[in-house]
Amino acid sequence: QPSDGNGQPQTVLAQEILENLRRFPRCLLLTRVGQFYESYFDQAVEIARLLNIKLTTRKWGGSRVPMCGFPLVHLDKHLKVLVQQNKRFVAMCEEFPHYSDGVKAFDRRVSRVITPGTLIDEPFLNPFENNYLLAITAPEVNDCVQTIAPLGLAWIDVSTGEFFSKTATIDSLRDELARIGPKEVVLHSSLDPMKHRPIFEALAEDDTFFSSVTPPETFQGIRTLDDLRESRNPLQAADASTLELDAYIIKPALSHAETSAICLLTAYLHSNLLEHMPVLSSPNHEGSEGRMQIDSHTIKALEIRESFREGGTKGSLLSVIKRTVTSGGSRLLSRWLCSPSTSIAEINARQSLVAFFHARPHFQADLVEALVEAEDTGRIVQKFLLGRGDTSDLLAVQRTSHIWSSIMKRVEDEKKLESIERADFREADWDSLDRLMSRMVDLGDLSERIGEALEGASLSTDESATIVHSNANGDHGVVSADDSNVTWRYGPAKWVIKPGFSSKLMTLHNSLRSFLREREELERTLQLQYDAPSLTLRASPAHGMHVHLGKAKRDQAKLSSSPEFVSIAESGSTRCYFFREWSCLGGQIAETMLALTLAEKEAFETLRNEVTSHSLSLRRNAQILDELDVALSFAKLAAELNFVRPILTNDALLNVTNGRHPTVELGLLAAGRVFTPNSVSLSPGSRLHVITGPNMAGKSTFLRQTALITILAQTGSFVPADCAVIGVVDKLFSRIGAKDDLFHDRSTFMVEMLETAEILRRATSKSLVIMDEVGRGTTVTDGLAIAYATLHHLVTANQCRTLFATHFHELSDMVGYPNQSQGIFASVDFFCTDVDETDDDHFAYQYRVRPGVNRDSHGLKVAQLAGMPSAAVTVARSTLSWLKKRRPNSHDENMQ
Ligand code: ADP
Repeated sequence: QPSDGNGQPQTVLAQEILENLRRFPRCLLLTRVGQFYESYFDQAVEIARLLNIKLTTRKWGGSRVPMCGFPLVHLDKHLKVLVQQNKRFVAMCEEFPHYSDGVKAFDRRVSRVITPGTLIDEPFLNPFENNYLLAITAPEVNDCVQTIAPLGLAWIDVSTGEFFSKTATIDSLRDELARIGPKEVVLHSSLDPMKHRPIFEALAEDDTFFSSVTPPETFQGIRTLDDLRESRNPLQAADASTLELDAYIIKPALSHAETSAICLLTAYLHSNLLEHMPVLSSPNHEGSEGRMQIDSHTIKALEIRESFREGGTKGSLLSVIKRTVTSGGSRLLSRWLCSPSTSIAEINARQSLVAFFHARPHFQADLVEALVEAEDTGRIVQKFLLGRGDTSDLLAVQRTSHIWSSIMKRVEDEKKLESIERADFREADWDSLDRLMSRMVDLGDLSERIGEALEGASLSTDESATIVHSNANGDHGVVSADDSNVTWRYGPAKWVIKPGFSSKLMTLHNSLRSFLREREELERTLQLQYDAPSLTLRASPAHGMHVHLGKAKRDQAKLSSSPEFVSIAESGSTRCYFFREWSCLGGQIAETMLALTLAEKEAFETLRNEVTSHSLSLRRNAQILDELDVALSFAKLAAELNFVRPILTNDALLNVTNGRHPTVELGLLAAGRVFTPNSVSLSPGSRLHVITGPNMAGKSTFLRQTALITILAQTGSFVPADCAVIGVVDKLFSRIGAKDDLFHDRSTFMVEMLETAEILRRATSKSLVIMDEVGRGTTVTDGLAIAYATLHHLVTANQCRTLFATHFHELSDMVGYPNQSQGIFASVDFFCTDVDETDDDHFAYQYRVRPGVNRDSHGLKVAQLAGMPSAAVTVARSTLSWLKKRRPNSHDENMQ
């Protein structure tokens, strides 16, 4: 029977593949065969097309089947295409080497299914973003319902282990999706697209990638965390340690909905991570209290994480303010920006730390320098928990714990120095940093232990990669691409674990050294004895242990006459001989090296277990470092862009003096222009500001900057203004910059109305609403009526702080301006932006917001500025004056 290259008959491979295709019907199957990943049958056609690789055929069972394959080294590149770009699930069937009686053999099995939300350490994983997998569950319903409550949400970043759960309503689901930004959503297959339509609509809105799953049978009876805990690990009953749910029971606050979402998520992880299922820590229960809710439109419209004009992060708030230097810090910053705090105590604590570093720029720079070197410990620990990782990861843990120690020391020293040098030293100034540092755990012992075990310092990453290869199975050991060489070629072998780590390793190293010495001696003796300087003692898979003559013609004379040397191969100028003494010695060397390989593997497992036993502390330290990184980055930002510390209160105020829009300001600066700062003062007596003015005069920028300043303030950052007092905002809404959503069959006007309706339903007296041009997408009369009704509702029902930009200057008359200080519109004030008209054809924007109403929209001038032909502008002008004469009170909006 033909062999598949690993000594297995082809039919075995074919059977394995057919069985795996049956077991994982929704997946593309990649099967490792030696140094390749291969795919067969119909899937090969699809994979070859997706990856743009060669499709070929292979003869199996008398017929030819399609196949394609690629070398191991291209795995990450191709997974990125299959999983990340094409959202396909990929089942990885790996080869697992094992040794029986010193002979290497292979088992093949699917060790993991890779999906967009279950990435672990793939190089295409963005280190600056969380990669969340979100499970959503809903109660069973009998009829079609619009509002289903409550939904259960549980989400995890498999690559870092961050795990959360909460309940939500269908109303808030969209916002949660925008905030969490899951890369993949799982729904229980019992959810019905008709009965649970709102859930499917929310998912479709953002094209969120989701799939419906039926949990494996072993999970089907599981409804509660108690069931889950009792069942332990239903898929791997023998290995209970992989599901650590004890922590769940000390969280009685978890609701039924949350529990079911956690169960679904856990089941899904089990069926995909298989042998890499991690120890799950207890999920962090998230309440709605304590966090500013930013609705999904606002996260997008304010371009907090992503810019819709530029696409991607460039031009977003995050990209402009980001000064973090670690990936964990960047992820935390991104999370905080989308869920700012509403706790004044928490915000103040974050601000104090920022202020502390702001006042100590040198110390700040020192710490940043140390942080730059820190590794992404959150992800590394998770890698170990998932049964992966290699010695370079151990070294990274060691390096990072050194950095932690040095940062702790640096803080202590700086404090001592300041207390000596500065007359105005106050212990209290250090409170915020001391508090943060006191949570840090000293992991010097672990780092020392790794140091004792590994030849860390002397190994470059590259070197260690060639020596210790951790293949896709996380299989540690000296089993690299040229594995066979390591076993056969006895030197110079490099070992990664120091001999002193265990007595077993020490003994093996001693024997290996003495065998190698014997080999050297034997080689020298033979060279002299047979007068053959080109003689070497070698090993190769083809000839086994053999004596090799490099210059056969010159050196073979004496050797060939000796019966001890049996010629086994000759070519051109070289000869190979069998020589018993060397075969025995070489065999001993090979055996010792194999034993060393296995002993190192064992030692690595011991070290890995030691690291995972410290996972809580390692994670905690990593989180502290993330917080430190964000605080340092805010301090740097404040210094660079001239931000000030805002004051937070519980009153319904919003006073910003000379506020600026951080992104627009930077854009203008790059173009050599200056941003005009503007102030705003909202209070219970002046709760809604109507802002009129021409197009392009800065209304929208003013609205957005106010919202961004509020977000930054509640995130703990300083803000772009001369002074700011912010009454804590519970929910932030915006109706701004609607785009057609034709893909989802919604016109601009429909999008606008949906967003407005949601705001009017949800805004509270503690909310901040920014409304830009409500009622624009329909006829003037309809639009005006809608704008008025919206304003009326916001003032009388919602009673929230609102900035309301509009072209409908008639609104001022409708609310009785300037005499509206009595009655229901007493809290409405009017502001406007202006243009300076130099002459009929020229004008300049002032970008200054002043009290009053601007009744001139300057629409024709803007059209002219945009390059409309002068003949058309002339027609427009005469039409406008004719219209004004005909309907002197009409609104001119429809003429723009
Ligand atoms: P509107 O909403 O009134 O149509 P925008 O707020 O969209 O106007 O502003 C249009 C452009 O004007 C911005 O892209 C920016 O270049 C410029 N701009 C806006 N506000 C300011 C300001 N305060 N200072 C300087 N330039 C500004």
